[in-house]
Amino acid sequence: MAQKRDYYEVLGVSKSATDEELKKAYRKLAKKYHPDANPDNKQEAEKNFKEVNEAYEVLSDKQKRQMYDQFGFDGPQGFNSGSQGGGYYSYGSGFDGFGGFSDFSDFGDLGDIFSSFFGGGSSRTRSSTASRKGSDLKLSLDITFEEAYSGVEKEISINRNEICHACNGTGAKRGTSPEKCSVCGGTGKIKQIVTTPFGQMSTQKICSHCGGSGKVIKEPCPDCRGKGINKKVVKLKVKIPEGIDEGQTIVLKGEGEAGRNGGEKGNLYIVIHIKKHSIYTRKAEHVLCDIPITITGATLGTEIEIPMVDGTKEKYRIPEGTQTGTKFTIKNRGFKSVNGNWRGDFVFTVIVQTPKHLTREQRELLLELSKTMNEQPPIRKKGIFG
Ligand SMILES: [Zn+2]
Ligand SMILES: [Zn+2]
Repeated sequence: MAQKRDYYEVLGVSKSATDEELKKAYRKLAKKYHPDANPDNKQEAEKNFKEVNEAYEVLSDKQKRQMYDQFGFDGPQGFNSGSQGGGYYSYGSGFDGFGGFSDFSDFGDLGDIFSSFFGGGSSRTRSSTASRKGSDLKLSLDITFEEAYSGVEKEISINRNEICHACNGTGAKRGTSPEKCSVCGGTGKIKQIVTTPFGQMSTQKICSHCGGSGKVIKEPCPDCRGKGINKKVVKLKVKIPEGIDEGQTIVLKGEGEAGRNGGEKGNLYIVIHIKKHSIYTRKAEHVLCDIPITITGATLGTEIEIPMVDGTKEKYRIPEGTQTGTKFTIKNRGFKSVNGNWRGDFVFTVIVQTPKHLTREQRELLLELSKTMNEQPPIRKKGIFG
């Protein structure tokens, strides 16, 4: 492939060009190089036309422009436009990697887990007029431990492709509509007669002019540059069910990218991450927690208040002679199961606090006590796990 020309150079604008300047330059050049305006020099014109479209496609998109400025053609995700066949309006199809869920590519290992959901590059079609399913989107959402416990509704913002309002998704300029492809006569296929040693055989191939859709856009819609879809920031409310666990995914069907030319919408996958809590941890549907108690409470027994995840308190009677590390269970105060109608337990471990600072009076009392029990307790044999 020939060395590619710098996009700014292609459009004849400076690196600091405004959106307005870009648009102006693009319109001028697109008109100049439109293959229909250059009947004598169609091939060259088409090449230039594609180059101009590709440059505009990238520079007019804030995110893509930033990527291009930063990384050049070989962006972090294979920022490279293959020379794709098809109609005149295969607008920079090599850049589709920037759309779709790659906008949310910062997910670390989770990407692998979900890679099977996402078709990757396999669904790329060649022509902007061919119907195409919208990409799936994926994002991660952080919620608190308490929100996971009780369930929560969250508002999220996503930047996704929506059907272009100006052309209603056809990609053709308002007042025009896609025209029947003159090469294949609107069938999308071209018959070929092939001569073989066994005689002549008739085969069919996809029309490369229209990409098999049978339609060609003569005047592209300026709002979406013929794609029929536009990027838009959309706000969505997401219901997160009670009991959801780390790494679980919520699927919103049809909330992914809009399809092209009547193609189906993609889905939105929301991967839930639960922030660490300063007191509680989770094990399956159980809530675990350490509760400090005093040396006298442990020795004589005491009633303590245990803070539950939902903010309420449970009174619990700690029996006389409780050892540090003893676990107690409050039934059914753990997480609700997402799949069933049951709850885990709240399990707490008491930690007996040895006092570090004593008043004079406390010290005297303890000294008195120690006189009555100054024998070292016998060392008992234990198993590995105590
Ligand atoms: Zn449009
Ligand atoms: Zn055709």
